Amino acid sequence: MLDLQSLLNDISQTLSNQTDRGKVADYIPELAKQDNQHFGMAIATIDGQLFSTGDAFEPFSIQSISKVFTLTMALGKIGDKLWERVGREPSGTAFNSIVQLEQERGVPRNPFINAGAIVVSDVVLADHQPKETIGEIVRFIRCLADDDSIMIDEDVAQSEGDTGFRNAALANYMRAFGNLHHPVEETLDVYFHQCAIAMTCVQLARSGLYLANGGMNPLTASKVVPRHRVRRINAIMMTCGHYDGSGEFAFCVGLPGKSGVGGGILVIVPDKAAIAVWSPGLDPNGNSKLGTMALEMLVAKTGWNVFGA
Ligand code: GLU
Repeated sequence: MLDLQSLLNDISQTLSNQTDRGKVADYIPELAKQDNQHFGMAIATIDGQLFSTGDAFEPFSIQSISKVFTLTMALGKIGDKLWERVGREPSGTAFNSIVQLEQERGVPRNPFINAGAIVVSDVVLADHQPKETIGEIVRFIRCLADDDSIMIDEDVAQSEGDTGFRNAALANYMRAFGNLHHPVEETLDVYFHQCAIAMTCVQLARSGLYLANGGMNPLTASKVVPRHRVRRINAIMMTCGHYDGSGEFAFCVGLPGKSGVGGGILVIVPDKAAIAVWSPGLDPNGNSKLGTMALEMLVAKTGWNVFGA
């Protein structure tokens, strides 16, 4: 029998001795304040068990992990029409690169690089006021996690808004190609706020369960998305969820995952569980250094992967 709690304790213990813990993101001033000594991890299983270790109950900025949830919402709103405005190929470039966008005439490679996620936010905005849409995104995530305490960290949202010049460049560029349908400030307002949602590892693991359970949220017994869409979302997480480190993550961990520059990673174990890990120090690709190490240790012991080996 797999003792997941002992396994998490062992991982946490092993990593506490790690001296090279990566570098916290400093291009968003509010995130630069994070302490890279944090480490938390949680596993929520589809049959209702929860295991956690370390700082698993401490909220952190989910950043790009929010892109999984807004992608789910956008597909719910316009279905496969989304793929006319954003691709689904790994980018092979940095998460905030503008070069590729010029070559590909304003259609971003995938929904998880910043440009693609900004298009997705524009779809979710759908002619509403940014405030309403931001509320809709938070309500959606609260429903997924079955937890009404999930909030936006307004200081992080403000910090991103004040310094998000690159994202503004990407958005303006896409607007010039007609691939943003709302004023740039409105779409970015939604994008910055979704990135600034704060969640704990426990909340995040619970919120990912619908993707491990064929589209049905086991916490509330409600259907979130059809099964075929789960397959698509998980595929994009596998191929594009770690930016330019996505191949490496698939190779070393072998599960669909999405990272954020706050140091969180959400991982889906189809038909079994959702895992969230957080440690703010990042590797050069912008993915949590200890988080990735922890996941490698976990899959080595559990044998969890999507390749049947
Ligand atoms: N809010 C961040 C940005 O737009 C998200 C990046 C990330 O988490 O990878 O730069």
